[in-house]
Parts: sequence; C-alpha cells; structure tokens
Amino acid sequence: MVLADLGRRINNAVSEATKSSTVTQSVVDTLLKEISNALMESDVDIKLVLKLRKKLKATLEVKESDNITNRKKLIQKAVFDELCDLIDVKNVEIFKPRKKQSNVIMFVGLQGSGKTTTCTKLAVYYQRRGFKVGMVCADTFRAGAFDQLKQNATKARIPYFGSYTESDPVKVAQEGVEKFKKEKFEIIIVDTSGRHRQEEELFKEMVEIGEVVKPNQTIMVLDASIGQAAEAQARAFKESSNFGAIILTKMDGHAKGGGAISAVASSNTPIIFIGTGEHINDLESFTAKQFISKLLG
Ligand code: GDP
Repeated sequence: MVLADLGRRINNAVSEATKSSTVTQSVVDTLLKEISNALMESDVDIKLVLKLRKKLKATLEVKESDNITNRKKLIQKAVFDELCDLIDVKNVEIFKPRKKQSNVIMFVGLQGSGKTTTCTKLAVYYQRRGFKVGMVCADTFRAGAFDQLKQNATKARIPYFGSYTESDPVKVAQEGVEKFKKEKFEIIIVDTSGRHRQEEELFKEMVEIGEVVKPNQTIMVLDASIGQAAEAQARAFKESSNFGAIILTKMDGHAKGGGAISAVASSNTPIIFIGTGEHINDLESFTAKQFISKLLG
C-alpha cells in the first residue's frame, strides 16, 4: 500500500470509530485492528505494529465513567501520538551546520539510491539559506559519475570539484575538500561511490574517505522503495561509515514508504529529509510530527 492510501485508511478508521454515538470496547478493537492491518500492508515491521497496538489499546481502554466527547478526542490524539512515536528517533542530536566555518558533509549509499541527485538537492537547500556551498565528486568507480555531478552542479550553479584522470577516490576527496576549505566554503558536500551491492571494497573505501575528509556529518541515502530491506542496508553502512542521519529518497510515486521509515526508525538514526521527486527542489525536511500530520492530511 502506498503512503497516501495508508493515511486515508487510518483516517477512515478513526472517523468510523469517532462517529458512533457510543465508543464501546468493540469499536476500539475494530479501530486497532484496522490501523494494524493498514500499517502491515504498508510494510511496517510487525513487531513495531504490535507494540503500537498494545500501547494504543492501553491508552484507549474504555471506562464507563468516560465522557463521550473526551473519548473521541482521546482517540484522535492517541492515534497521532503513537504514529509519531513509531517513526520518531529520540535522544539523538541532529547536526546543524554553522556559517563562517567549513562543514563537511559526506554522502554514502548504494548506486541508484539517488545519492548524486540528493547531494545536489541538499547543496541547493543550503545555498538558498545563504551558505557558500561546493560539491566534490569522490566517485571514481563509475564511469560518468563526475559528468553527472558536474551537470547537476552546473544546472544548480554550485561550484564543484572532481577529476577525470585520478583513479583514487580518497585523493580526489581530500584535494576537493582542502581546496574548498582554503576558499572558505561553508558547506562541502562529498559524493562517494556506490557500487551495486554492499561490498567489502566499498565499505573500506568509505572508511578511508571518512578518515581524510573528517566529515562533520555523514548522511546515508536510502531508496524508500526497497521497503523493509532498508534496515539491513542501513545497518551494514552504519558499521563502516557511522552515519548520523538518513535521507530517504523516492518517497513519491509508489514507494511503500512505511517499510523504510519504520525499519530506519528502529535503527535509531534520524531521517532528516525525504526525496519526493527527480527535480532539484523535491526535498522535504522530515520530522515525525510534520510527516504524520501530512500523512493524515
Ligand atoms: P546514485 O547512483 O545513487 O548517485 O543515484 P542518482 O542520483 O543517479 O539517481 C538514480 C535515479 O533515481 C535517477 O533517475 C534519479 O533521477 C532518481 N531519483 C533520485 N531521487 C529521487 C526521488 O526522490 N524520487 C524519484 N522519483 N526519483 C529519484
């Protein structure tokens, strides 16, 4: 089930429950069942669904003394809060770049996840907020990677650095970051190589690049359309690059975003943005509350 349908189904279930003249235990049970089914059909991890159901059930326990209006309000609030809780990552500080200093942001992720596109989107995001931004192409593995970054950067008017001749990505990354630092760039975005699979070589490369560019923030780019497989992929990259934030891409279209979101939330790493299209402006900031408000319309 795609995200828009998930929101609709949860909304319908809540309105069904709150429109009856009395909210009995059986109405609450039907609501819990419908929400759980909708979440599971959206690929949300079953353990998380069961946890949510248990918590909701406890909050919505029907007492004879309850005022009916309050009970209906309680249902709406409890569903909203529990959905936020499902995807919220707590006690993790989110990096905020500072002006007048060089903030290095390194991207990691598999090939095709939308890394290069997202680097450009984030570069534009910060440029619009008054930062001096540069992009470094440290992907020397894929032929055409530098050309792609160059094209994107040129279109967005972002200065870039890369090499057609140097085959060592660590060297290119180091040179690019040093150059931009010398020129007082405030955000330096390093795009890295992807490969098709989670390979030893790739992880080794990420560690080496990380050691020379010393990123202030490492972001993993994850394709939301891979559903629950996102969790294993995130875990594998976490070990090598210890990224502190995630950008989920391809949340437009038919992605079963629920799977990726819940898988990622359970890995305790915050999603900071979501990619919602191929265009440079299709990047939305992500907070659990905003996301759930939007989901439920
Ligand atoms: P990379 O190999 O990880 O650098 O991936 P690319 O940046 O080349 O992206 C792979 C494909 O995904 C391209 O066709 C992008 O236009 C597309 N893409 C990236 N982000 C999004 C997104 O948020 N939504 C959609 N629909 N397509 C995206």
